[in-house]
Amino acid sequence: MNDNPAFGAGLQPFMGIPSFMRLPASRNLKDIDVAILGVPFDSGTSYRTGTRFGPRKIREASLMIWGHNPTLNVTPLKKLQAVDYGDVSVIPTSIEHTMTAIANTAAEIIQTGAKLITLGGDHSIALPLLRAHAKKHGPVSLIHIDAHIDTWESEFEAVPYSHGTPFRYALQEGLIRKDEYMQIGIRGPLSSEHDYADAKKLGARTVTIHEVMEKGVKEILKEIHQRMKGPTYVTVDIDSADPAFAPGTGTPEVGGLTSYQLLQLIRGLHGLNLIGFDLVEVSPPFDHGDITAILAANLAFEYLSLLAIQ
Ligand code: MN
Ligand code: MN
Repeated sequence: MNDNPAFGAGLQPFMGIPSFMRLPASRNLKDIDVAILGVPFDSGTSYRTGTRFGPRKIREASLMIWGHNPTLNVTPLKKLQAVDYGDVSVIPTSIEHTMTAIANTAAEIIQTGAKLITLGGDHSIALPLLRAHAKKHGPVSLIHIDAHIDTWESEFEAVPYSHGTPFRYALQEGLIRKDEYMQIGIRGPLSSEHDYADAKKLGARTVTIHEVMEKGVKEILKEIHQRMKGPTYVTVDIDSADPAFAPGTGTPEVGGLTSYQLLQLIRGLHGLNLIGFDLVEVSPPFDHGDITAILAANLAFEYLSLLAIQ
């Protein structure tokens, strides 16, 4: 019996219950450094749904990630105690109730001292996550990697929140430090010629995909390191990757980052005061061969590796 546990690192990747990286599925956070949290929610999407299946699929894709990261030269789970905390109790028909549940669950976890790696879910989940982190740390420095600015105003007056609005509210609520918010990889048709100017007025430094490709990732990382001086939160929308690398998402935009550039961007955050991370917008029904989920799992692994060398 004992040589066939229900889950865990000793099993083959195709065996057992699929927790993230075969971590213990546990809510006991005593002496825990990192908690993986799923938010299976897609009622904030504006086009194609399916991100409610994201956390489960990313967990499955993570089973194949072996422990050592040769690029950062670290075996994160040798340095860090981590658990898979499971999912937030979402209500698919209520974004507001779900946002409250996310903020409460996140606050409970981070107040123990554990850091959060959250797997979405659509990008609306970033707002309650930022609320929880800002409550603990004060306003944060924010690195937002995305094809979209997500600082739009809601098109529905009655419902302000969606996956297109989280950073408008985060800025307006004072959750982000002044001049310490970069949105990177931005592209695609806009709703008006004023969208970038509006984002700037709110406090965003918009780095378009054109700028990333012209300057290269290293130059962008230089600016990130110059700008981000506070406790730094990282939010990655998988649609920042080109649809060739990440087709499994709700609002794909052509002409994006390669998987390698995304890995480079995350690895290059070494040295910052990293306090939290989310990865959103993986929509398995639109994926092919799980390539989007595999990229997402590996980006989370790179971030976990950064925490181990902090
Ligand atoms: Mn987004
Ligand atoms: Mn996006």
